[in-house]
Amino acid sequence: MCRHLAYLGPPVSLRELLFDPPYSLLRQSWAPRDMRGGGTINADGFGIGWYPGDGEPVRYRRAQPIWTDPTIAQVAAVTSAGAVLAAVRSATVGMAVRDEAAAPFAEGRWLFSHNGVVRGWPDSVVPLAGALPVRDLLTLDAVTDSALLWALVRHRLRAGVKPARAVAETVTAVAAAAPGSRLNLLLTDGRTVVASVAGHALSVRATPASVLLASEPHDDDPGWRPVPDRHLVEATATEVRVRALVET
Ligand code: GLN
Repeated sequence: MCRHLAYLGPPVSLRELLFDPPYSLLRQSWAPRDMRGGGTINADGFGIGWYPGDGEPVRYRRAQPIWTDPTIAQVAAVTSAGAVLAAVRSATVGMAVRDEAAAPFAEGRWLFSHNGVVRGWPDSVVPLAGALPVRDLLTLDAVTDSALLWALVRHRLRAGVKPARAVAETVTAVAAAAPGSRLNLLLTDGRTVVASVAGHALSVRATPASVLLASEPHDDDPGWRPVPDRHLVEATATEVRVRALVET
């Protein structure tokens, strides 16, 4: 199952964040330490979104293993950002493998990622999808559960729902419609990050000026804290709040 991470804090180079650590996202693509829920490697694509300044993020995503792309390694070495969301993908059986199926999904300032699976796809979520504008369904990035989850979250954000609530409501609704789903979502606008933990692992490492949320710790720093299952994390660079995942 995919691995994802989000960082907020002082600018760091993408290489330092994603490629250099001993258990970096790069390494997690071929040797993850935790692959509950099936899959062995995360080789069906990857994506990196970063905020070069105060404006909208830049996004790079490809349907190939991250270790096979020499361009991103070079770009990462010369690019720094104070807000980043990145993911490596292990496609769920039967789901499209193409650039547009790799996280992060994006709109405006938003970047989004999903680690997990919607059980009973697609029948289980037809009632939820049916509540979306037809246009949203016709313009899904890809025919995958993750792209539909993004459409459900985005629909709430567009209606002015706060990000933590948009994520919590989506997880609650999908978990009810498709029991047994794994719904670790990550959403950021470059200033705050919201993450749900529902079925997969997530760890947080906070310093006084930065926060890093990741499917698995990328080094042996004792500062990593696992987030319990069925919880929601809301963080800025300087503050982390963890609470039970209930509809708010
Ligand atoms: N089910 C999603 C996909 O196929 C996410 C996969 C994952 O977490 N491995 O893209």
